[in-house]
Amino acid sequence: MERTLIIIKPDAVQRGFVGEIIGRFERKGLKIVGLKMLPLNDALLSEHYSHLKDKPFFDSLKRFMKSTPVIILCVEGVEVVDTVRLLCGITKARSADVGSIRGDLAMSQSCNVIHASDTVENAKNEIQRFFEKDELFDYDKTEYLHVYAEDER
Ligand code: UDP
Ligand code: MG
Repeated sequence: MERTLIIIKPDAVQRGFVGEIIGRFERKGLKIVGLKMLPLNDALLSEHYSHLKDKPFFDSLKRFMKSTPVIILCVEGVEVVDTVRLLCGITKARSADVGSIRGDLAMSQSCNVIHASDTVENAKNEIQRFFEKDELFDYDKTEYLHVYAEDER
């Protein structure tokens, strides 16, 4: 089954949304296979946001992402990369769909409470970037009997 990487950003940690955000993934039926808190450093962020290195907001984005420790999650599910992006909503939070995490909890294009991998290939790289092998867990989630039909599991 597919896996994706989620970061609960410093603004969400500061605003007390960690439980709310993790709860949304749990309620959706996604399986948490890795979870930890850690501070991000410049090297890690330069790699993670390398696609934005020429943007004028690159340095302030890195300062923001280093401002408190963040929560990193790896979640699993059928086609979970796309599903989690839908749950997050678009980058500019004040225009994100009502009902999405960004649409419900944020106003900013920078402080938008959450990161999620955007493709299956990027998810694989990002999971490797943030998790050691022994920090990811395989286990049976009994709920899958009711979350997915037989041919989807
Ligand atoms: N970002 C920003 N200003 C912008 C665009 C993006 O500060 O104009 C930040 C924002 O925190 C965003 C992150 O850079 O979540 C990564 O940008 P990306 O385009 O990859 O958006 P995402 O995949 O997070 O929706
Ligand atoms: Mg992105």
